[in-house]
Amino acid sequence: MATKFSSSLRHLLRPSPFFASLRPTRRRPEWRFFTPVAGPSENSPRKEEVVVVGAGIAGLATALSLHRIGVRSVVLEQGDSLRTGGISLSLAKNGWRALDVIGVGDELRSQFLQIQGLVMRSEDGRELRSFSFEEEAPGQELRAVERRVLVETLASRLPPNTISFSSRLKSIERQGSEGTLLELDDGSRVLAKIVIACDGVHSPVAKWMGFSEPKYVGHCVFRGLGLYPDGRSFKPKVNYLYGRGMRAGFVPMSSTKVYWFICFNSPSPGPRTSDPYALKKEAFDLVRGWPQELLDVMQKTPEDFVHKTPLADRWLWPGFSPRSWANGVVVIGDAWHPMTPNLGQGACCALEDAVVLVSKLRGVIGGRSKLIDQALREYAQERWARVFPLTIRANLVGSLSQWENPVFCSFRNNILIPRLASLGPLTKHTNFECEPLEPAGSA
Ligand SMILES: Cc1cc2nc3c(=O)[nH]c(=O)nc-3n(C[C@H](O)[C@H](O)[C@H](O)COP(=O)(O)OP(=O)(O)OC[C@H]3O[C@@H](n4cnc5c(N)ncnc54)[C@H](O)[C@@H]3O)c2cc1C
Repeated sequence: MATKFSSSLRHLLRPSPFFASLRPTRRRPEWRFFTPVAGPSENSPRKEEVVVVGAGIAGLATALSLHRIGVRSVVLEQGDSLRTGGISLSLAKNGWRALDVIGVGDELRSQFLQIQGLVMRSEDGRELRSFSFEEEAPGQELRAVERRVLVETLASRLPPNTISFSSRLKSIERQGSEGTLLELDDGSRVLAKIVIACDGVHSPVAKWMGFSEPKYVGHCVFRGLGLYPDGRSFKPKVNYLYGRGMRAGFVPMSSTKVYWFICFNSPSPGPRTSDPYALKKEAFDLVRGWPQELLDVMQKTPEDFVHKTPLADRWLWPGFSPRSWANGVVVIGDAWHPMTPNLGQGACCALEDAVVLVSKLRGVIGGRSKLIDQALREYAQERWARVFPLTIRANLVGSLSQWENPVFCSFRNNILIPRLASLGPLTKHTNFECEPLEPAGSA
């Protein structure tokens, strides 16, 4: 039965030759085709010690961190396979530190270019400022990583049967000292001692805990991936272009792939467009007349590789925001602290969350609920102090970069960027240290 399901699904999901050429050549991992945790006919809930909700960056990093300390977990993912969209993420040295602790840093490093600095230009191509990491922020490590490769790499290191696909969480209910009851869309139920909610920006678990929906910040972003199958040598720098109420950028990921984005002001998120040709045209219309280098990268982008996303965040005001943990349930990653991507820190912080949370839980999983809640409280306190200021800062950097007023833009382009900006303080938030993850009781 299971084999039949797998093979028919494989047939349905078989990629077109074009997409197949973009996928890694290594064997397709087996975790893509697991069946849901339990059939709808089962009445009694399946019992689990640790359940992770969501197989995104935070969820997979958490499951892998748990695996490293010898703890088994089940990851419930609503999709029938890994969600591999999202184009690219810039990971700074804090993200790499977390990936090293999880044990996948070097595998990913070998596939993506190390960025050496930044070049900032105005929309007419005039250079405003150029920064070198070596000179102004030594020790920085920045790479633009394809999200698909990141999630597939994390998932490939998990033991078989860790991820349960087609397992969408429908409802959640506290069951006293027994744990938390999770009901899935297909009617199956899981009773978990610990629930780690990594279910993203519109997290149902965060909603259940009393968090409001993230707030739209007034700008949207187009993202795309330019493909150069024959290879091309790009300078390993992040290229930023500043206009009025709009900015764009591109960054080489490897010799064959370049990530680009356009961030533009819009009073509302606008209608959802699914027509990829219309999306690409809309993106081009925004940057008509901008430097050819950017337009060339956009031209090299297949329509399916263009996405539009409205940006939103949620500020975790002390005293007003709900607690992020209670009775063995905790929210992490975007589910807890969605932030705008202006500092490139959302995924980096999700990775940090995962390793810090698991280091706090090390030694208490399987023990008394009181100790587990104490670990969750310590985690939440430590991480709140980290993510709340970053969320605000990312929002402010976004507002400043999206200025429309010509006087403000002139001040930004002629004084702020060329004379006042300094890379050291601007990247200080990427400092992050954490202990290696080892099973409890080992040295
Ligand atoms: C335009 C843009 C650019 C960005 N650039 C960067 C960058 O350069 N650097 C950086 O560090 N960060 C960046 N980010 C942020 C980064 O993408 C997020 O912070 C990160 O993906 C959060 O990971 P997550 O695991 O918390 O959530 P997600 O990756 O969204 O994963 C959530 C998972 O939960 C699953 N799920 C949801 N609901 C349910 C349910 N009910 N039941 C079961 N499963 C469920 C989803 O299917 C999904 O797999 C960017 C974000 C945006 C929007």
